[in-house]
Amino acid sequence: MKVLVAVKRVIDYNVNVRVKADGSGVETSNVKMAMNPFDEIAVEEAVRLKEAGVADEVVAVTVGSAASQETLRTALAMGADRGIHVVSDEELQPLAVAKVLKSICLEEMPDLVIVGKQAIDDDSNQTGQMLAAMMKWPQGTFASKVELNDSKAVVIREVDGGLETVGLSMPCVVTTDLRLNEPRYASLPNIMKAKKKPIEEKQASALGVDIAPRLTVVSVSEPPKREAGIVVEDVSQLVDKLKNVAKVI
Ligand code: AMP
Repeated sequence: MKVLVAVKRVIDYNVNVRVKADGSGVETSNVKMAMNPFDEIAVEEAVRLKEAGVADEVVAVTVGSAASQETLRTALAMGADRGIHVVSDEELQPLAVAKVLKSICLEEMPDLVIVGKQAIDDDSNQTGQMLAAMMKWPQGTFASKVELNDSKAVVIREVDGGLETVGLSMPCVVTTDLRLNEPRYASLPNIMKAKKKPIEEKQASALGVDIAPRLTVVSVSEPPKREAGIVVEDVSQLVDKLKNVAKVI
C-alpha cells in the first residue's frame, strides 16, 4: 500500500506574525519557517502505518519554492521514503495545489492520501476536500483516528456534536486533526539518513494544470488590540459595569 502525504512550508507556529506595512500580506523575510503542524501529524500517521506493516511506501509531496525542500527533508527524516518537490516560486492557492496534487496522484496512484486539515498560514481548509472531489475519491476530514482494513479506511472525525465514524473505500483522502497523534521529533541519525533519500523535482508550470490564482487578497490587517481589563470591588459593581459600560446585559 502506498501512502502520499502533502507537506507545506509555513511560518513556524511559535513566531509572532507581523503584517507588512502596506497591508499586502504578512512578513516572511527573516522569519523562522517550519512544516505545517497538521502536516507533521499527517507524516506521523503515514510512518506509523508503515511501521505497523500496513503501508509499504510513504511519499511526501510539497509545492513551493526551492526552500520547501527543507520541509521535504524533515518529512524524510521523520520516516517518509522519498519526496516529490513541485517547484513554484509563486505561492499557490489551495485550488492550484489541489490540481497539482491531483496530477501527482494520477502518476503515483496512492491508496491513501493524508493532508493536514488546514495550513496555519492561509487557514483555508480546502486542499484535501478539493483534491478528493477532483479525484472522485471519498474523503474523511478532521480525522482523530484512522484504521485500515480490507481495502477500507475507517475514520473517526471530530464534528461539532462529538465524534462521527465513516467508512471509506480506498483510494481515499484523509485530513488530519490535532488529536490524531503526537508527531515524533526526527533524531539526528535519521536527519543524516534523510539527506540520502531521493527527492524528485518537477516544475509546477510543466504539469499541464491551470495554476493561475482565482482569489485576490484585498488587504491584510492586524486584529484590534485588546484593551486592559479592570478589577471590580464587588458583584454589584460588576453588574453595573456589564450593564452600563460593556452593555452586554
Ligand atoms: P489549506 O487548504 O491551504 O488550509 O491546506 C490544507 C492542507 O493541504 C495542508 O495541511 C497541506 O497538507 C496541504 N497543502 C496546502 N498547500 C500545500 C503546498 N503548497 N504544498 C504541499 N501541501 C500543501
